[in-house]
Amino acid sequence: MRIVIEKADRKSIAYSLEPQKLTVLIPKDVITGLLEKTLSVANRTLMNNEETIPRKEFYHMLNNWTEKLQVKPKKIQLKSMKSKWASCSQSKTVMFNSSITSMPKEFVEYVVCHELLHFKVPKHNKLFRNLLSAYMPDWQERISRTIDYVLAQNNGKKLSELHIV
Ligand SMILES: [Zn+2]
Repeated sequence: MRIVIEKADRKSIAYSLEPQKLTVLIPKDVITGLLEKTLSVANRTLMNNEETIPRKEFYHMLNNWTEKLQVKPKKIQLKSMKSKWASCSQSKTVMFNSSITSMPKEFVEYVVCHELLHFKVPKHNKLFRNLLSAYMPDWQERISRTIDYVLAQNNGKKLSELHIV
């Protein structure tokens, strides 16, 4: 099953299911919703898996992006979290879900870039999206491929059981 995610000028999520393709129409303003909805599935699937990214490489990636974006988090933590991949606070602490290092590298990099960009723009507004697309033009494809990956990990389960979208 191929999942295609398209941004649409609408307020709620809509689906169109074809035999080989699930098209998901997401409101233009939704950025994190998709991430959060992949989380329960991903946690269930990947918790016992080995890390896809060694911690060392994860921190290296973080350093690269703090330099690239010219931001200075005070504290960075990996922590077990139930409903988010990452969050950042006004006190400039960034927390990442410790399960994230079991996710595909391109997805981890997206989450890192997204979170650190919040130091420049706190909200998911047009400026945020423009900056995101400027620094990482393929961010939507990264999410889309990650959903495919998670689905593949759940091979054998019905799509409706997955609650991905
Ligand atoms: Zn965000």
